[in-house]
Amino acid sequence: MTAIRPITGTNSNETTLRAIGISFVRTPTAAMLLLAVIAAMIWRASTGPAHWSDAAVIAALAVLRPFAEWTVHKLLLHGQPRRWRGLRFDPLAARAHRAHHAAPRDPRHVLTPPLVIVELIAAAWLATAWLPEPLDATATAAVLTFALTTEWTHALIHSPYQPRTAWLRRLARRHRLHHHRSERYWFGVSSTTADRILGTAPDPAATPISSTTRSVVGGDRGDAAVPTGRRGLSRGAMCSPDLDCLVDRDGCRGEQGEREHDNPLPAGQGRGVE
Ligand SMILES: [Zn+2]
Ligand SMILES: [Zn+2]
Repeated sequence: MTAIRPITGTNSNETTLRAIGISFVRTPTAAMLLLAVIAAMIWRASTGPAHWSDAAVIAALAVLRPFAEWTVHKLLLHGQPRRWRGLRFDPLAARAHRAHHAAPRDPRHVLTPPLVIVELIAAAWLATAWLPEPLDATATAAVLTFALTTEWTHALIHSPYQPRTAWLRRLARRHRLHHHRSERYWFGVSSTTADRILGTAPDPAATPISSTTRSVVGGDRGDAAVPTGRRGLSRGAMCSPDLDCLVDRDGCRGEQGEREHDNPLPAGQGRGVE
């Protein structure tokens, strides 16, 4: 498992966008993506002036983005190890994501490992190679920019930053549900669109607590392990010490409770959220 540099360094007071952003761009993951985006933009600029078709490609990719993110998260990152003819297939991306689920508050596992970023850059380049020049460059730059902003959103959600907008609060809450209520739902990180359209954004209070949110691989589906009560859940299960921060709508802790729950690391050890 590739160790990932803590996103927020060692200063527990890094709660501002600027401080967290500086720590973010200093990580290998962000730096590599940023350089790749700049390289793709230079590549596009070298092929001629901007054209309306550039905007069309970017708009099309922006529409596809939530579904691509959903698909990668659900099928690749949550993919099960497989064996074929004695060979074991378990991509680094999936192993790294399992480490993130196993210790959601460990800042070493929040960002995608650099080696996976190399694979991602190559995949973005290859996947857009069928487009005519210069749109292949435009598409590569757009895909890498989307990847960078998804990493940033994920880092922000897992940082001590207090979201100022309802949009970011919603994303953070959905992501915590994915980590702590059920890993079978809420796959969107930078958007809730795909979850809503593809049926993976259920009512949290009516969603049984999965027993495999930490292991992800194997085990039961988690649905039968939870005592039932109102809408399929007991209040005790919903407000267990590890989960009460998630269901403020049902009378457990509110936003402040979430934040207190989110930052369990002592000062000087970096900060992380689930
Ligand atoms: Zn996940
Ligand atoms: Zn996460």
